[in-house]
Amino acid sequence: MAPTYTHKFDHAAFKGEVEIPLGLFINGEHVESKDGKTIDTINPTTGEVICSIVEGTAADVEIAVDAAREAFENTWGYNTPGFERGKLLMKIATLMERDADILASIESLDNGKAFTAAKYFDVTESAATFRYYGGWADKIHGKTIEQSTGKFAYTKHEPVGVCGQIIPWNFPLLMFSWKIAPALAAGCTVVIKPSELTPLTAAYMTKIFQEAGVPKGVVNVVCGYGPTVGNAITSSKKVDKVAFTGSTPVGRKVMEEASKSNIKKVTLELGGKGANIIFEDADISEAVKYAAQGIFFNHGQTCCAGSRIFVQRKIYDEFAQKFAKVTQQLKVGDPFETATYQGPQVSQTQYDRIMNYVECGKQEGATVITGGKRHGKTGYFIEPTIFGDVTSNMKIVQEEIFGPVVVMTAFDTEEEVIKEANSTNYGLASAVFTQNLSRAHTVAGKLKSGTVWINCYNELHPQIPFGGFKESGIGRELGEYALENYTEVKAVHVNLSAKCGFPVDV
Ligand code: NAD
Repeated sequence: MAPTYTHKFDHAAFKGEVEIPLGLFINGEHVESKDGKTIDTINPTTGEVICSIVEGTAADVEIAVDAAREAFENTWGYNTPGFERGKLLMKIATLMERDADILASIESLDNGKAFTAAKYFDVTESAATFRYYGGWADKIHGKTIEQSTGKFAYTKHEPVGVCGQIIPWNFPLLMFSWKIAPALAAGCTVVIKPSELTPLTAAYMTKIFQEAGVPKGVVNVVCGYGPTVGNAITSSKKVDKVAFTGSTPVGRKVMEEASKSNIKKVTLELGGKGANIIFEDADISEAVKYAAQGIFFNHGQTCCAGSRIFVQRKIYDEFAQKFAKVTQQLKVGDPFETATYQGPQVSQTQYDRIMNYVECGKQEGATVITGGKRHGKTGYFIEPTIFGDVTSNMKIVQEEIFGPVVVMTAFDTEEEVIKEANSTNYGLASAVFTQNLSRAHTVAGKLKSGTVWINCYNELHPQIPFGGFKESGIGRELGEYALENYTEVKAVHVNLSAKCGFPVDV
């Protein structure tokens, strides 16, 4: 019997015991791994072990892939009509909404994010994603295309097959949902690997899949490390498509592996270094609040974070002063306290990485406007940090810090700021704040990123595509666009009455 773990939650929004299955979820059942190893999952608020989850191996991935293949050929795919797939996805959404307090509590415990954010963003948007793709499942169809007299073709959008999916730790449940929901809607089956740092909401979701009646083998969850389980997924000949969300260096490896064994379809959602541009005619108070939310939401552990703020010179001092004031008022602390906005970073490794960047920024000559230190004595807490006086060659300006650290600089002209904004290798998201309609759309058109927000930040919704230009990725998640990742287009040519033009008659 695979182990389970029961956690007793006792916070303002939820009191109760929750049982979490810790086994691998393969072919509809929770099982031990082939070598019996486990991974400790750590509570980032305290640094203490929460529980030990079963660690998958390459051999377990093989079994999971076979289960997914069997389900694809015989149960799901062509065997379950879109309407039925859609009903199941919506049922999953309903169960997630029922268990919102449980899912949000597990997410806060495992990842460290504030419970309020976990409930009203992560869980809400995850359930919405299942519901949204539930609506799509019976609307995935092709076209008829006229060819010539007596001939035409029609296209079918068929499921790609068995999909390997690999996700990070920053939005464990949301990334899980963004990956699984469109794949299932399209008729694909899945082997997914959660991050080894935050496997617990994925583990709980396997109970929801069982309760909803997801057929065996349609979704398989194999927890484990990247070089073992992740690599086994990307290198398996039996996997038709790999969808990866994570860092750009690992994305590069994934792409390489995916092309070696067979030519897998690959989609990548990678890192970012978002530019947030504030023009002098912007509503400064709104821009300040959105800038703070743009970087400090999810403790800066957001791929699309507005981590580079460009402020037009005339309002720079006023903006900096207001932004610092707002930032100093953010409540950092226990994620389960209602007032908390920022919990701990996810791990000791991430904490060290971010603090190294902070030290590097100081040494490179940037000014710490606020923050720049550890918060508290235990756990992985960092003060929300603003650097001013930065120059474009600094490491803290060029590299993704993935923490509550933002760099701020003044600019003079529209041309200059567009050039600076586009000067990194990333191209995930950016924003522009101005009340000049013409300028807003002109700048939005020139920014090289998959998302541009005008007078807002971090708007992420199931209906709207999300993904990166340049080294921020390949393909789009969410919206109708994500369905393209999980479907193959087949053209069927039909001859009704045209005679064959072969030169020799029969
Ligand atoms: P990471 O690249 O270290 O890990 C991501 C996942 O890949 C994890 O599950 C990990 O175990 C796995 N992995 C590691 N090595 C692997 C290998 N050799 N083969 C296969 N899988 C492997 O990233 P992370 O630290 O978990 O997440 C942070 C990164 O994710 C940031 O760069 C962030 O910008 C990015 N991210 C991007 C998006 C997006 O939509 N563009 C969303 C969230 C996070």
